[in-house]
Amino acid sequence: MDVYQWHNEITGKRVVEALKKNHFDAIYCPDGETAVTEVMKFITPGAKVGFGGSVTTRDLKLPEKVLKAGAIVLDHQSAELDADQKAQVRLQQLTCDVFISGTNALTIDGELVNVDGTGNRVAAMIYGPKKVVIVVGINKVVADLDAAFDRIEQVASPMNNKRLARPNPCVKSGTCMDCEGGTRICNVYSILRKKPSSTDTTVIVVGEALGY
Ligand code: SF4
Repeated sequence: MDVYQWHNEITGKRVVEALKKNHFDAIYCPDGETAVTEVMKFITPGAKVGFGGSVTTRDLKLPEKVLKAGAIVLDHQSAELDADQKAQVRLQQLTCDVFISGTNALTIDGELVNVDGTGNRVAAMIYGPKKVVIVVGINKVVADLDAAFDRIEQVASPMNNKRLARPNPCVKSGTCMDCEGGTRICNVYSILRKKPSSTDTTVIVVGEALGY
């Protein structure tokens, strides 16, 4: 095992223990392939499976794999949907069988920190779906809540703006400029300090970088 792997594993296992103390089900996987195997254990044919706006889940090709397993994929980012259909899919995600998402940041004390534009992703992470699965690359692990919000402002949100081709100032500066316009994607901030009490949530911490 090289030094990078060693440090990813020791950090990942530490944050898994912190998540468990916060009442989450949590496991450590050394790589994305192992994480996909763990996610697929929750998928059954015919199940309605929602996806949050998440680069991690798309990088792992989870929507395709879930579809291949015979489940129904609820993906509002599908290019085939118009605006009304996207809105319908977002609503269906709130009561789906399994909701799969990434997270913007995870503190070493096991707190999940996110920012949304619409809020559908954080809403589904909190309440509604029968099962929530959150996949987190080791690059998302930070020291504390301040570092989590720094990560969102300096890395996650500017990169998501670039991905979504939003005309916001962070696309030019590479860092948050706290814009005021209607195209802002940072509107709803959430911190899961402990597992939401009525939600069955599994957090899969992966010992390699995934998403941003
Ligand atoms: S608040 Fe505005 S400038 Fe800051 S990251 Fe979000 S969209 Fe970009």
